[in-house]
Amino acid sequence: MSLVPLEEVQREILGLVTPLEVVEVALDDALGLALGENVTTTEPVPPFANTAMDGYAVRAADTVGAASDTPVRLRVVGELPAGRTPECAVGAGESIRIMTGAPIPPGADAIVMVERTARDGVDGVLIEAPAGVGDHVRPAGGDLEAGAPVFGTGTVLRAPHLGVLASVGAARVRATRRARVGVLSTGDELVSPSTPGPLAAGTIRDSNRPMLIALVAEAGCEPVDLGIAPDDEAGTVAILDDATRRYDAVLTSGGVSMGEYDYVKVALERLGSLHARQVAIKPAKPLAFGFVGGVPVFGLPGNPVSSLVSFECFARPALLARLGHPHRFRPEVSARAEHPFTRRPDGRLHLDRVCLRATDDGYVAARTGNQASNALAASAAANGLARVPDGDSVPAGAPLRVLRLDGVPDH
Ligand code: AMP
Ligand code: MG
Repeated sequence: MSLVPLEEVQREILGLVTPLEVVEVALDDALGLALGENVTTTEPVPPFANTAMDGYAVRAADTVGAASDTPVRLRVVGELPAGRTPECAVGAGESIRIMTGAPIPPGADAIVMVERTARDGVDGVLIEAPAGVGDHVRPAGGDLEAGAPVFGTGTVLRAPHLGVLASVGAARVRATRRARVGVLSTGDELVSPSTPGPLAAGTIRDSNRPMLIALVAEAGCEPVDLGIAPDDEAGTVAILDDATRRYDAVLTSGGVSMGEYDYVKVALERLGSLHARQVAIKPAKPLAFGFVGGVPVFGLPGNPVSSLVSFECFARPALLARLGHPHRFRPEVSARAEHPFTRRPDGRLHLDRVCLRATDDGYVAARTGNQASNALAASAAANGLARVPDGDSVPAGAPLRVLRLDGVPDH
């Protein structure tokens, strides 16, 4: 089977995956979802003019010429904490002691911060700096005016977005439903991570499942643990048949190479469609994906590092497409190679696990250690995947493109 370029497989997958329905969700359940409506606000934010500082509400004209050696004395006619409404106005020669967030009292047009004042007896304050009209006043609607658009359809809701929606009283919004994603490990050699050692001969603990479950959750989907399937054709078919009826996507790991006991591809072929690909990348060359009743199934390779890289390259963009996210790929940055990235020409793009470090001179990328596809420990420290193009080694100091494994996607 010939090797297919990474981008071609990604395009093929994204051309086939459909977004889930838009539903109404509470703000508490909306983190990571894509808005399915344009939200506007009927209320201004902030709802009223208020002070940005603790200090004194004054008439700016009264403070002309004020300095620390020639302070202006104003009468203090009241005190206004946040959450109260003014009981009186500020007249000429008067001031009100005011706390951050409290409404600007009538008559006042500026705030003098408390650090520029000194108390003078029980009813007086010395203003030690002149105030300009509007100083430290946050006008009503300064953040969002009444009637203004807040966020558009497709906006991916992160923590600050939830805060903004709360501020305009949008306690429920319409958003693309959160995908539920089944995660299955396959292999007769696998035992549960909680199995105490020493392990029975020939067995290993299932490390892909906890990793993939966490990656699914990190992508904003709801993972469902489907356990371990033995290498058995009928059993694999039955599990995938059931899972594709219940969930919005299914991830399996193992059982997609060229081995005699690899049944994920067989199951996909029997249940729906199978697209088996040998992708021109290292690690994660074998990929089986398919659809059963419109539900995408990703047969990721078994080696844990391959599983991780395959998830990043194929499953994650597909899950984000399911969630209706407009940007499905990680942000990419330019970096310099900290050391030679040795490799040989093999017709494949190498995706080396690297640590990206920001320097005054831009990013520097260094391999995190053993790059073997089973050596997950060395990959755990990575915050990037360096694209080491097919060909000879990349010398130290040469430029590299690196996919960030963290961070908000570029827009
Ligand atoms: P396979 O693709 O099933 O031939 O698996 C390739 C390699 O990955 C073998 O060494 C498997 O033992 C290993 N492997 C498969 N699934 C897992 C898993 N869930 N956790 C850890 N290693 C695995
Ligand atoms: Mg296997």
